Amino acid sequence: MEHDSERIIYLDHAATTAVREEVLDAMWPYFSQAFGNPSSLYALAGESRNGVDEARSRVASVLNCRTSEVIFTGSGTEADNMAIKGTIAAVKEGPCEVIVSAVEHHAVIHAAEQLERDGHRVLQAPVDSYGRVAPDDVRQLLTDSTALVSIMYANNEVGSVNDIPGIAHRIRAYNSRAGTDILFHTDAVQAAGKLSLDVRALGVDMLSLSAHKVHGPKGIGALYVRRGVPIDPLIAGGGQERQRRSGTENVPGIVGMGLALELAEQERADFCNRTERLRDRFIAAVSERIDGVKINNHPVSGLPHIAHISVPGLEGEPMLLGLDFKGICASSGSACSSASVEPSHVLVAMGMDMDTAVGSLRFSFGKDSIDEDVASAVSALIDTVSQMRGMPSLASSIA
Ligand code: PLP
Repeated sequence: MEHDSERIIYLDHAATTAVREEVLDAMWPYFSQAFGNPSSLYALAGESRNGVDEARSRVASVLNCRTSEVIFTGSGTEADNMAIKGTIAAVKEGPCEVIVSAVEHHAVIHAAEQLERDGHRVLQAPVDSYGRVAPDDVRQLLTDSTALVSIMYANNEVGSVNDIPGIAHRIRAYNSRAGTDILFHTDAVQAAGKLSLDVRALGVDMLSLSAHKVHGPKGIGALYVRRGVPIDPLIAGGGQERQRRSGTENVPGIVGMGLALELAEQERADFCNRTERLRDRFIAAVSERIDGVKINNHPVSGLPHIAHISVPGLEGEPMLLGLDFKGICASSGSACSSASVEPSHVLVAMGMDMDTAVGSLRFSFGKDSIDEDVASAVSALIDTVSQMRGMPSLASSIA
């Protein structure tokens, strides 16, 4: 049996999660016995089709929407791209205005930049020092040329949560007064399994999801598109997903996503209670035991499982390597941009100073995290920081 001190302690659940056993079991038959192409007519294909249909019903019931409003995509990134580029492509007249926040995932920011290169105008809504967007700031940016607003539900780095119903309300009020049809998209990739995804209560027209953040497989996502929203496909071909996303369906992935999301929703309250308690213990311990540490996530209104801290004067990447050496997996900034030594655009937009931003780390707890993980992570961090404080800091060379 493996010695406990050799166990890898995975505290990077905001980057990705392991596929859970029940999900793997549900996916398995669709790789082999039930391998038919859902578009074919014989009975074997019917099994794959049923798998896709059942998964779509599961996603629709978590979202409180119609099954016809769920489009399966190849990732959360593709869902974001489709929401942004697909809706603007469907607007046939003139250049449009698109509003995004300054702390969106790169899937949104870079998709918006592509629109800008095509002659559209992109405006950035500002954020506060926790990375939250004020609904009134979005309202201020709306004009009769605005076609789309895309504001994330919960941020992937610091875990801040936006008032999506508040923003939706202001866009609806503007639309009914000005006679406009401004659409509202939210990236809910980090919110799944932590916050309600009821699209009617949220008031959104589109919402992006990804399976691998909730113990589903990687390489599968979904976009909710409210009935009646005009959207052009990004991928042309055989007309799958009601002509909106061509390509033979990733049947095992879709089946896995449906079940993973359903289970995450069923366990949501329990997940939030468990991880919030672990996160708060972690924050209390590092605040007490590491001199000068800063806590960057919102004390009450953030995602329950994310602790985002900074040790000003040290760099995040060497701290991560020190933690990794001690068996702890964490993240500096978001995993998707961890190859870069620049402080993330999120922390810059929050107004964080360079020293604090460069020395930041994200610890994200999961459904199987336990008290001992907190204790091990705290002592590994204390050791790493003490070792590094015995060396000259490299942070000034980056600034
Ligand atoms: N949006 C957010 C907020 C994310 O955190 C991520 C992944 O980290 C994505 C989109 C992209 O999802 P995927 O990894 O499925 O492409």
